[in-house]
Amino acid sequence: MTVQPRRGDAPFDAARLANAATAALQAYDPGHDLPALRRRFGATIAELGSNENPLGPSPHALEAMRVALADTFRYPDPRGAALKAALALHLGVDAARIALGNGSHELLMMLAQCFADPAHSVVFSQYGFAVFPIATAAAGAQPIRVPALPRSHAQAPLGHDLEALAAAVRADTRLVYLANPNNPTGTWFDDAALERFLARVPADVLVVVDEAYHEYVDAPGVTTALRHADRHPNLIVARTFSKAYALAGLRIGYLVAHASVVAVLERLRESFNVNSLALVAAEAALADRAHLERARAFNASERAWLAEALAARGYESLPSQTNFLLIDLGRDADSLERHLFERGVIVRPMGGYGLSQCLRISVGNRADNERLLGALDG
Ligand SMILES: *Cc1c(COP(=O)(O)O)cnc(C)c1O
Repeated sequence: MTVQPRRGDAPFDAARLANAATAALQAYDPGHDLPALRRRFGATIAELGSNENPLGPSPHALEAMRVALADTFRYPDPRGAALKAALALHLGVDAARIALGNGSHELLMMLAQCFADPAHSVVFSQYGFAVFPIATAAAGAQPIRVPALPRSHAQAPLGHDLEALAAAVRADTRLVYLANPNNPTGTWFDDAALERFLARVPADVLVVVDEAYHEYVDAPGVTTALRHADRHPNLIVARTFSKAYALAGLRIGYLVAHASVVAVLERLRESFNVNSLALVAAEAALADRAHLERARAFNASERAWLAEALAARGYESLPSQTNFLLIDLGRDADSLERHLFERGVIVRPMGGYGLSQCLRISVGNRADNERLLGALDG
């Protein structure tokens, strides 16, 4: 082979060599450098930007990891069999219908990679979870972004318009991504609305319902999309241990789907995608119902307290069934975000979602929430 000189002596730049789907992507913007801020401010920063559970993981999960540490020279179980068996029992489904991921983020990406290509379209809501458009673009598929419900909507302002989402499905649509409740809006839809949606969507369109905040939900009429799974084999339900189970740093999530969907995902799955500490911690966390109940109860009461304290200061938040509140300032939120940042309070700006008037604030522990309120006051 003859080595051709590079055209015009342009400096080497691999960006020109990226495939079409990757060329259209941008790297994840990690926001503030939290490790650097922690070094600078120590314990004095209030981290309310990433929807982490301030109560921390189950002590049983910590103990299970301590025991498993000595075995980390071995590869993890590539099947994740013990955790899948525990989840199967917990959810009342066959273990062959469960896939485990390095966070549910990985599973959401794999679904598009396995099932969509440039000839297909993928449907999701405006203000839907940020991973949906990224997964679509990474697969080179065509995004169909459906306008959200209006800000004035009583139950789900800026939430998913399921009627419009169903109407947007085309003959070439392979996937629909829904989040219930949704991040960053905090909004939700009930079982009956999902049932009507599923009845309208053709059987060979995969409907993904991302239930990352499922454990926090207590709104009437909302249980889980899993209740529709028997009648709708095209339904996929994704969950995570990052939020209510407080294991975000371990990166572990799962999905429940028809066994044939799981079998396709298995072709792409990296053999050891879930690490051995995550496997044992998730199993122990799942078994600790009392710890989960404490997290749920704390979040419900603290979220209500925080929403009220924010409203008393003129910051109205959208209704939420999650562990965060979206506040809408009605003006650009940039200066408030900076004001909070300078006082050691980290919240999430929403410009990337096209919601530059909003800030997303995670429900922290009481000390961090008070710190937020103090920073708003001064
Ligand atoms: C946090 C979150 C996830 C979970 O991400 P992991 O990769 O499991 O940490 C998934 N979907 C939504 C809507 C989320 O907010």
